Amino acid sequence: MTTNEELIDLCNNPSSSARSQFLRSLDLEGAGKYISGVDYIARESRLIGFKGLKIVVNKSYRMSISNPAARIFLIPRFKSRVKVYPISFERIREESWHLGDFLSMLIDHEGYHAKELFESPKIISHFSDVNNAEYRAYENQVRNFDKRNCSPTFRIWAEEMRNCYKRVSCELNSN
Ligand SMILES: [Zn+2]
Repeated sequence: MTTNEELIDLCNNPSSSARSQFLRSLDLEGAGKYISGVDYIARESRLIGFKGLKIVVNKSYRMSISNPAARIFLIPRFKSRVKVYPISFERIREESWHLGDFLSMLIDHEGYHAKELFESPKIISHFSDVNNAEYRAYENQVRNFDKRNCSPTFRIWAEEMRNCYKRVSCELNSN
């Protein structure tokens, strides 16, 4: 079975252990220098946001990174852990995306955050810098579209996110 078939199978199979095993088996390429592991989180995270004056609850992060040493204490050279939520698999199924699209989110996006936190955590220490960090991570995905043979609809989505963060305040559901 190719890894892509394995991913597509897992989109229809919510087994935590199978998804965890799959995530552990992935080659993180150069991002392995900045990521200590990839964890599957079976429960969705809820994100509270604002739309104008209205409070909205977005479904979840797709993926996120955890690195308290870098984020709270601004200590460089600590690796991050990546958390992958069920919605990552759901999006792949709903949009008919494939492994290249998944790796774009995992390696080119989360791996990019991990690299910046490893090298210079101060770069995203202020709230206003978060939008810039998101912009750079989506831009890195765009740069690697061809390498990963990303799907046309995936490219449109990631470019839209990049452009949204370029405008500083992005109301789309990020990560
Ligand atoms: Zn991000």
